[in-house]
Amino acid sequence: MAINDYNYQTKKLIMTDITFPGEKIAIIEEYESGKNTFDDGHMVRSAVVGTPDLNKKERTAQVQNFKQLSIPQVNDTVIGTVAAVMSSMIAVMILYVNGKSVKSHVECICNTRNIRKKSVALVNDIVKLKIIGHLNGAIHATISEPDLGVLFTKCKKCGGGVIPMHDAIKCVECAWIDERKLSADFGNYDFIKLRA
Ligand SMILES: [Zn+2]
Repeated sequence: MAINDYNYQTKKLIMTDITFPGEKIAIIEEYESGKNTFDDGHMVRSAVVGTPDLNKKERTAQVQNFKQLSIPQVNDTVIGTVAAVMSSMIAVMILYVNGKSVKSHVECICNTRNIRKKSVALVNDIVKLKIIGHLNGAIHATISEPDLGVLFTKCKKCGGGVIPMHDAIKCVECAWIDERKLSADFGNYDFIKLRA
């Protein structure tokens, strides 16, 4: 793994400021269990998805609740912008969960190792993914179903618009032919409207 990949993963993908239910946020010798938490006899643990809030003065540990829509759940369909492309995964900033736009743009990561394409997606492409789980504070998604994949992309060479051609895409400006993991819905969304 390249150093840039490593930095990206450690700095941005592991969302240490987000806890999931059951996650340890403090030890009971140091903090009392506060709002949205419980203690298991040793640890104060989060009862919700949210951000931990440790009050050193009052020695209480609580968790600020997230609005339910902000953090997609397993099997939710999300649409977002590709924020980073790494050798075997992409990071996507989530804009829509189950068709509804969300304000807090959390990122999910999607393994692309098993996709046999020259490029699965490019940075700034709009992709449709399905959430498969939460692991170590990161949200994991898949792109490996027919309706999942790129919904909107541009030519890598000239930035021109592209049209699907068999299993590939072709630039309408410079005729460059390229590959993406296209969604079956490719071309069916009006993203000029969505992005305005
Ligand atoms: Zn082009």
